[in-house]
Amino acid sequence: MQKFAIPQPDLVTLPILDSDELFPVRRIYCIGRNYAEHAIEMGFDPKEDPFFFQKNPNNIDLSGTFPYPRESNDVHHEIEMYFALKSGGSNILKKDAHKHIFGFGIGIDMTRRDLQAVSKKLGRPWEIGKAFEKSAPMGPITKIEKCGMMKSGKIFLKVNDEVRQNGNLNMMIWKIEMQIAHLSRFYDIGAGDIVMTGTPAGVGPVLKGDILQANIERLGSIEIKVV
Ligand code: MN
Repeated sequence: MQKFAIPQPDLVTLPILDSDELFPVRRIYCIGRNYAEHAIEMGFDPKEDPFFFQKNPNNIDLSGTFPYPRESNDVHHEIEMYFALKSGGSNILKKDAHKHIFGFGIGIDMTRRDLQAVSKKLGRPWEIGKAFEKSAPMGPITKIEKCGMMKSGKIFLKVNDEVRQNGNLNMMIWKIEMQIAHLSRFYDIGAGDIVMTGTPAGVGPVLKGDILQANIERLGSIEIKVV
């Protein structure tokens, strides 16, 4: 058997609701400014097209705790629905996009907003603000057979029992099929890919001790404690 020269990194997986099987994660794409009111609150024109950036698979965290990251004093919550792909390809047509979806889940795109702001100002990449340790708390995947296509449904986030973000999945500027079509123009997307579909308005800072509760209709909720 082939031996590795260094300890083999763990394969990142997501649990699947009502299943003993695990979902292996290959890539994480995230869409930016996909809800008009969030684009406006960040100071942008909602008529401009959304765009994608990436997090790393091993930024996913399932522990229910979010350790406040170093090198930042302004970390924000962004509740997002994610979808998971069971197959993929390139140049996928919108009408065929749904065939590639395995399921949906709840995620939070934790963001070091101060470092992201510096990146924006200097015209630099966003990874330092977006793709850091445990920056993607997630819940399990609900299979599409169980929850359907998730075109609409309430999406809201509470901090210490107070609603901070509130929207509906039907407010997405680029719908799920369009996200798949667009991504597959530029990348060979495939089985194991996760796409975080953007956040509704109301993003804001988290503090140590906060309890974040992220809810999406038909997908349930996840609870994260900031430590
Ligand atoms: Mn986001």
